[in-house]
Parts: sequence; C-alpha cells; structure tokens
Amino acid sequence: MSKVLIIGGGIVGLTSAYYLQKRGYEITILDKGDITDNCSFGNAGMIVPSHFVPLAAPGMIKQGIRWMFDSKSPFYVRPSLNVNLINWGLKFMTHATAKHVSQSAVPLRDLSLLSKKLYEGLAKEPDFDFELTNNGILAFYKTEKAGEEEAHLAAKAVELGLDMAVLSADECRALQPDLKLDVLGAVHYRCDAHLYPTKLMDALLKYLVNNGVKIERGKEVDRIETAGNRITKVFTGNIAWEADQYVLATGSWSPAVAKMAGVKISLMPGKGYSFMEPEPQQRLTIPALLCEARVAITPMNGQIRYGGTMELDKINTRINMERVKGIVESVPAYFPDLKPAVPSEKDIWYGFRPSSPDGLPYIGRSEKRENLIIATGHGMMGLSLGPATGLLVSQIVSGIATDLKMEPYAVMR
Ligand SMILES: Cc1cc2nc3c(=O)[nH]c(=O)nc-3n(C[C@H](O)[C@H](O)[C@H](O)COP(=O)(O)OP(=O)(O)OC[C@H]3O[C@@H](n4cnc5c(N)ncnc54)[C@H](O)[C@@H]3O)c2cc1C
Repeated sequence: MSKVLIIGGGIVGLTSAYYLQKRGYEITILDKGDITDNCSFGNAGMIVPSHFVPLAAPGMIKQGIRWMFDSKSPFYVRPSLNVNLINWGLKFMTHATAKHVSQSAVPLRDLSLLSKKLYEGLAKEPDFDFELTNNGILAFYKTEKAGEEEAHLAAKAVELGLDMAVLSADECRALQPDLKLDVLGAVHYRCDAHLYPTKLMDALLKYLVNNGVKIERGKEVDRIETAGNRITKVFTGNIAWEADQYVLATGSWSPAVAKMAGVKISLMPGKGYSFMEPEPQQRLTIPALLCEARVAITPMNGQIRYGGTMELDKINTRINMERVKGIVESVPAYFPDLKPAVPSEKDIWYGFRPSSPDGLPYIGRSEKRENLIIATGHGMMGLSLGPATGLLVSQIVSGIATDLKMEPYAVMR
C-alpha cells in the first residue's frame, strides 16, 4: 500500500486524509499541537459560496489604510520591515484590481460549490452530525453605501448562478422575527450554509482513527530531507518519517515548513478572534454578517459565536482587547437585543487565517519536489473550501483527473 504523510491536522489536512483513506492509501498525519484548537475549530462556521470576491479587491487598500488608524477596526497590518510582509503586500496590491476579481470569481465559486456538495454528502454519513444547516446567511447593512455594494455583489452572484436576494428591513424582520433589527436591509446569501466546526473536526478525527489513519499529535516537523527533486524524510526532533508522497497542509505555518523543503510560498497569517455566548432562547436562527463592522455571528451548539478582525502580523499569542471590544460594541447597533459582554481573555479564541496575497488557495503538486502536494492559503474561507481541497489532493496524489481545472490554484502562479 502506498504511504502518504500529511503535515498539519486542520480542516485541509483532515479532509485530505478522509478522501485519501477512501482511495486505500496508508496515511499518517503529523501535527505539532493536539488538534483541539487550530484555526479550523474556532472559526465562524460559515460555508460561503457567496464569497467569490477575494480579499485583494479594488478599494481594499484605501479602506485598509483608513482602518489602520482605528484601534477597534476590523482590519490591521502591523507596519514592519519584515520581508515576507513587504513581498506579500506588493503582490496584494498588484492583485487588488477589477480584472483579478473577475478572474477569481469562477474558480472560487466552483471550489466552494464542490465543497458544499461534499459537506452535504458527509452530513448523511453515520456519525457525521455537525449541525450542517442550509438556511443561508444574512448580510446586514446600515448605510446606503454598504447597501449599494451588497446589491452589486448580489447582481454579480445571480449572474454566476448563485442564489441571493436583496431584502428590505421588513423582509429581514420576517426572516428573523425573534430579534429586534436596526438595519437598512440585507442580502440573503441563500446559497450559503453553516455548521459547528468543533463537531465537524471531532467527527473527522474519530472517523479517521476508526479507519486506520495514524494521527500523531505533538509532532512538530522541524527538518525535511531532500534528494534531487524528491523529499526523502521528514523529521520531528529525532524521529524520521518516510512516505511515498507528502501533503503540506500546515495553514499559516506553511511558508516555514515549505522552506524546509526548499519551496517558497507567499502567505501571511491573518489573525482573527471569536468567542461564544449562551443563547438559551435560540432567537438567532440565520447566521449574520454585519457588513460595515465586518463581524460574523453564527448560532451553533445552542450558543452564539461572535467572530471578526483581521490582523496581518507575525504569528503571536497577544490578544488585542481593543479589537475584541470592537466586535462586542458593533453587535447591538444591528441587533439591539443582543448585547454580548466583553469576554475575559481566557474565553477568547484566536486563529490565523492562512492568507495568500491574491485570495486564492494553493492546491497542487510542487514543481520543485515532485512527491510534495501543497494545500494551503485558504484565508477567510478554509472551512468552506476544505472538503473540495481534500478531494482534489486525493486526486492529485492518485494521479487521476481532478474534478476541477487546477491552474487557478497552482502553487507557482
Ligand atoms: C475568526 C475567524 C473566523 C473564520 N470564519 C470562517 C468561516 O466562517 N468560514 C470559513 O470557511 N473559514 C473561516 N475562517 C478561516 C478558516 O478557519 C481557515 O481558513 C482554516 O481553518 C484553515 O485551515 P487549515 O487546515 O489550512 O489550517 P489550520 O486549521 O491552522 O491547521 C494547520 C495545522 O498545521 C499544524 N502545523 C503547523 N506547523 C506544523 C509543523 N511544523 N509540524 C506539524 N504540524 C504543524 C498546526 O498545529 C495546525 O493544527 C475563519 C478564521 C478565523 C480566524
């Protein structure tokens, strides 16, 4: 049986293992942590075919600079002479064009729709209850400007065959009747869904273990040995791991791990925060995006998860309470009945979105190391795009035709 070693046990690593296991490979997953709180656990749980516009879009640079001067804003770049950040920023600027947005729409839509279909299939399997709920997402706005932007997005979405509708404030109230709303309107992203990430990750881990996948926790890859254009061994301290093919799915740590194999990836960690609050009455039935505040609110596990902010900085363990307060304070402006308390530091989760400069993930075989497959860079959409990525990885490893054309996601682009 051919051996595959997967580095990284986030949604991308686990779904890759899931589809590879079904194809009969012998799989080992190495993770430096215990796989209980990586970026794939505390996210907002939104499955978003609606998000066919990459972060690198016209207007983002101007808006980003304005936000830099507001300590509670949803976006922040720590100014630094870090060469990775500078290179990333230059690439981001080159891609923040209407042409790039238009070229990215179909590849993002197709990856997302494939993933959503796979989630629907997974949810029908025994032991895979992860609260997949297909009632869309409401993107609420309070200003004419955000309303116009959302209406424009909805028109484009409909052109792309996605189900979206522009709603008046009264139509929003009819959909979300148990909570007061102070909004001008919303776009209902009917094509979207949501789930409870912790339950999904736990179900995947359980399935993989029950089906013979070896999961090695606390194993940090710190050296990769190569010969010619192949990886020969991967090391975690003194232990050497050998396989026929290797999958790199290390999220925001990917540039460092790829570098060990002599491979360059342009990626920045985009730090975001989330926290949960009890909601026994379960009044919020449809997840919400607060457009101006860039906050996500999702009902899950009988609670509400609030999430947001994007800090581009080195990976660090600091919690910026000002930004968390920014999330907290934005909520009642849209939902006067929802008044989350400022959480204590121990109740705040944070994760690092593996953000590519052009907003598209990297999925493909490395040109430099022929037995290395790279699967990372999913940014704000890694949960959504996970299963499709895993399926494509399994097809690339097997050398069979892929469900999607792979050029837009090529590692060298
Ligand atoms: C606040 C917030 C909200 C979000 N909301 C959504 C959402 O609603 N919908 C959505 O689609 N996406 C969302 N995302 C994004 C999504 O969570 C990420 O894109 C996704 O989890 C990335 O998955 P991953 O498998 O690539 O990386 P990760 O989940 O980070 O997993 C990478 C793994 O690699 C391991 N690793 C790293 N280095 C090494 C090493 N050297 N050796 C061994 N192991 C290593 C790490 O320990 C980690 O377990 C959100 C993110 C944040 C922060």
